[in-house]
Amino acid sequence: MEKPAFLDRDRPDVPDLVVPGGVTPFYLAGQPVRGRLIRLGVLADALLTRHDNPAPVTQLAGKALALVAALASALKFQGSFSLQIKGDGPVSMLVADCTNSGALRFYVRTDSDALENLLATTPNPTDRALLGDGYLALTVDQGAEMERHQGIVDIAGDDLAGMATHYFNTSEQHACQVMLACAMTDAGWRAGGLVLERIAGEGGAQSDAEATSAVDDSTDENLLISPDDASWETATILAATLRDQEVLDDGLSSPHLLNRLFHEQNLHVNQPRALAFGCRCSRARLIDVLERFPEDDLDHMCQDNGTIVMTCEFCNKDFHFPRQSIAVGR
Ligand SMILES: [Zn+2]
Repeated sequence: MEKPAFLDRDRPDVPDLVVPGGVTPFYLAGQPVRGRLIRLGVLADALLTRHDNPAPVTQLAGKALALVAALASALKFQGSFSLQIKGDGPVSMLVADCTNSGALRFYVRTDSDALENLLATTPNPTDRALLGDGYLALTVDQGAEMERHQGIVDIAGDDLAGMATHYFNTSEQHACQVMLACAMTDAGWRAGGLVLERIAGEGGAQSDAEATSAVDDSTDENLLISPDDASWETATILAATLRDQEVLDDGLSSPHLLNRLFHEQNLHVNQPRALAFGCRCSRARLIDVLERFPEDDLDHMCQDNGTIVMTCEFCNKDFHFPRQSIAVGR
């Protein structure tokens, strides 16, 4: 059995950081609309500043963290939910994941020359310009004994929110609206977002049938809009008024922001959920990895001073292991 993280004394010095109200789920009573408002607060700064990336890349990573937090908190699962984007742009790979308990982590892989060239001509590139063409995958991983669920779509749209919306339009059954924000503020890096989902219900099915008969019987366009369509439409228009600065402002509470948007739509705010600093790396885990390498490879990795350095890509922390301490032959 794996040692729980809190018993592992070899864990690196990472912030033991929990943001209790990181995810605020809500729904609009009597309407086919539910959603989550995501505010990473100080967690955004703690996660993002461990990596030395140019601001546009940090911004993209912050939005990716808000997105996985929003999507993971909508699912029932035990394990991790991950977003992976691979493209031919200067950011060749972006991975962000969130566990069922809200532990977040990320890493990006960049081609520094290509990135420098892009930023020289375009100081504020779109997410698309950073990522290029490629694919976006969402995976639910519930451990070795459970089946992995994965959905993949091509990268489409200019920004990450658009890419996520495209994902939902092509691979899920329901409509979805995604807003993501990340910026450097007076308080440090902040990230957040709002995801609205159109959920299916008895009322929705009935209204669709009515709408279909309206097509047959009448040319009056007003009859084509079902009450469910209208309330979804209204919710998306209201959600679109949410500004980046509001999401990123620690001084505005999540219930306050949701009330501002939906106070006339029968808003019900559910119990908030926590987000946390989520790197699961440890010396023990990395030694485990090293011990699976053949002697030759270990010798090759070994530096002149007799140590092997392993870097956790997620929290950007170096671990030093004396070459002699690695037992081989497992
Ligand atoms: Zn780590």
